[in-house]
Amino acid sequence: EYQLETILAHAGINSDEATGALASPIHFSTTYQHPEFGHSTGFDYTRTKNPTRATVEKTLAAIEKADYAIATSSGMSAIVLAFEIFPVGSKVVAARDLYGGSFRWFNDKEKEGRFFFEYTNTEDEMIAAITDDTDIVYIETPTNPLMIEFDIEKVTKIAHDKGAVVIVDNTFYSPIYQTPITQGADIVVHSATKYLSGHNDVLAGVVVTSNQEFYDKLYYNLNTTGPTLSPFDSYMLMRGLKTLKLRMEASTANAQEVVAFLEKSPAVKEVLYPGKGGMISFKVANQDKIPTIINSLKVFTFAESLGGVESLITYPTTQTHADIPSDVRASYGLTDDLLRLSIGIEAAQDLIADLENALSL
Ligand code: PLP
Repeated sequence: EYQLETILAHAGINSDEATGALASPIHFSTTYQHPEFGHSTGFDYTRTKNPTRATVEKTLAAIEKADYAIATSSGMSAIVLAFEIFPVGSKVVAARDLYGGSFRWFNDKEKEGRFFFEYTNTEDEMIAAITDDTDIVYIETPTNPLMIEFDIEKVTKIAHDKGAVVIVDNTFYSPIYQTPITQGADIVVHSATKYLSGHNDVLAGVVVTSNQEFYDKLYYNLNTTGPTLSPFDSYMLMRGLKTLKLRMEASTANAQEVVAFLEKSPAVKEVLYPGKGGMISFKVANQDKIPTIINSLKVFTFAESLGGVESLITYPTTQTHADIPSDVRASYGLTDDLLRLSIGIEAAQDLIADLENALSL
């Protein structure tokens, strides 16, 4: 087994035995010629298996230190694929502070009676909520956007003792800072749209597991319902992965400098940052200034997403978390004075000067 840096740099290389091409070819063909009746090359139809997708899946499984990975059309389709392998009526304990899109789907499924959710604010609350009745424990760590960290190993031990499965959304830290499978998690999901691809130009998702039974069900559902990653996007994801570690380290170094600045700014009430990664949330002293701050930033782009080389600023209240009712948001600390930054790989000095100007207005 090679080190992470080597696995990443070698994503997809030398995968084409026919020509020896170094970079992975993009196989657009949706169907494959059978050498003769009753024989297959292993590839029949692209929904079932595509060589470019299979190549990126190999790297994705390796970096998450898992046996299997499935590349999907989006982070949401990865989350849906993972949940749908569990029976109707499954009971889920989830962290309250969730990506708004995940919450929207969970809420719809609860109304249909497909799944039942209990939301918890802290690790202790989560542990207390896991009972013999619990089927699934769902963790986003650090949480979005409050940046609360959960101890995956600790929660997983308790969940497994009670017979529950643990699913972790590893979008924010990526395998650079956290490999939940090695901490006991059963399934890992990602919005690969974010750090894994890293350039704000691919919509993608990943489901990872080392459990053969889960993988077989995931694969069956993928082939049946078809939320697969396209060959072109599989290539784009593969290309992005090569620099994942460099990008993550650069974002973290920048984020630490931005945090040091924000903590000293009189315009900032509170900074939420778990110490690593490129995501920072902060609460402003004067909420009325939020439109001015957002409109005057020049290096940061006002947009909803994260994990790219370009820095973004997001207002969760009206963007990523708008589907969570405001009273629910306020009840767990996601107040309307909170802004979220995704720190890219620009010069820290330019990011800080941009924020300094906007916060002084
Ligand atoms: N999980 C997290 C933590 C996210 O931030 C997002 C997207 O913003 C998703 C899942 C959904 O991923 P996608 O937008 O790729 O469908």
